[in-house]
Amino acid sequence: FQSKLPNVGTTIFTTMSQLALQHQAINLGQGFPDFSPDPKLIGLVHEAMLQGHNQYPAMPGVPALREQISLKVNKLYDHSYNPETEVTITSGATEALMCSILALVRSGDEVIVIEPVYDLYIPAIELAGGTPVVVPMLAPDAQHGNYRVDWQRVRDAINAKTRMLVLNFPHNPTGIILTENDLDILEAIVADSGVFILSDEVYEHIVFGNALHCSMAKRSALIERSIIVSSFGKTYHATGWKLGYCLATATVMHEIRKVHQFTVFTVYSPMQYAMAQFLQDPAPYTELSRFYESKRDYLANGLKNSRFKPLLSQGTFFLLADYSGISTEPEAVFVRQLTVEHGVTAIPMSAFYQNPDAAESNHQLIRLCFAKENATLDAALDRLKEL
Ligand code: PMP
Ligand code: GLN
Repeated sequence: FQSKLPNVGTTIFTTMSQLALQHQAINLGQGFPDFSPDPKLIGLVHEAMLQGHNQYPAMPGVPALREQISLKVNKLYDHSYNPETEVTITSGATEALMCSILALVRSGDEVIVIEPVYDLYIPAIELAGGTPVVVPMLAPDAQHGNYRVDWQRVRDAINAKTRMLVLNFPHNPTGIILTENDLDILEAIVADSGVFILSDEVYEHIVFGNALHCSMAKRSALIERSIIVSSFGKTYHATGWKLGYCLATATVMHEIRKVHQFTVFTVYSPMQYAMAQFLQDPAPYTELSRFYESKRDYLANGLKNSRFKPLLSQGTFFLLADYSGISTEPEAVFVRQLTVEHGVTAIPMSAFYQNPDAAESNHQLIRLCFAKENATLDAALDRLKEL
């Protein structure tokens, strides 16, 4: 029996969450908040159920929600996606990413991903019969405190076989974001090519220091070739609802919907009706960056009293912390010890590398999630300071 995905095991997020439970460790690993969505939003879900929204909604999603997403995207990024044909509601960003890759990547196509890379892209490309082409980021140095995209290497990786470039900014796990200058470079790189951009923008509302999120939807030259993916889970503290969406031109969306309709057909009716109403108030997403920035600062400042050295996170609800002053163990070994012996769970950054066990994939960095109550962060910091 030959596996279609011989290199895939249980995800690092499941593995570490299970280990945390087993050892009753404080879980700063898998990315989810330890607080609840707004009670008003929960009330709207309840109301939607009582109103009878409990059967299959339209295949591409509840029209009112698609309309609200289109309005929001237009307000933020100044491009109007047609809710009828260019917006689809999916089961989290995960389903949107998988459907986009399965719909567009053909056997023999090359797809460029940037490493460190979120865990689902490479297996999805392989399932579609494509070949992942891994472009490493530039490592932090004396001048730059965090990783950077090596655009020259992205440019060099593009050839006649390249079908797609997968981007994820704000970036999990490094927390780096794109600037307008990056968008300029990207536009130049893909001009005159047929390359699609699959842009995973699930952390679009979590950017720090007054920076603005640079969505592909801001540039007409990128819109025509981009599939933009986002997730309500990150923005509304509801990762367990698995509600997300994607945006693309009608021609491309037509293909993505063919896969979507045979993957899940459609998703959770009451949550969609509730989100359609809740989205009308911009405050929750416009205030989210400040909310998480103070949590980032809380964790980063706390770590200054420990031997962990935080890297500067510009977005997402993660930061990387360097433990080279504490241990020389590879990351996978260190995070195990951290859970079992010290009661704090983190994700090894090496899990975001194609070959996690290789020496060059180990940088003595762990990813910590700060989407937690300050009391949780305090408790974790107390333990981390003991190392
Ligand atoms: N992409 C990235 C970069 C993520 O970090 C995550 C989840 N944390 C997802 C996609 C999946 O999002 P969802 O839970 O909405 O499927
Ligand atoms: N994306 C989340 C993270 O990076 C995990 C989602 C999952 O467990 N698949 O932590």
